[in-house]
Amino acid sequence: MKMNIQLFAVPFRRTSKTKKRMRRTHLKKEVGTITTCPKCGAPLRPHRACTKCGYYKGKEVINTNNEEK
Ligand SMILES: [Zn+2]
Repeated sequence: MKMNIQLFAVPFRRTSKTKKRMRRTHLKKEVGTITTCPKCGAPLRPHRACTKCGYYKGKEVINTNNEEK
């Protein structure tokens, strides 16, 4: 009878909760830079037009009038 035995690398010990958590201390989501709109003070990503008032660098670049629809 032919035996089909596959060998895998099996971890000798299960990684403990502490060891796992210590390793993952470096894995975290970075909080992006947030500035505030100089016109309306809304939180804003840098180099993006304001979503509230549509202004960027002192000029209105997005039409925020709610006329459409
Ligand atoms: Zn704004």
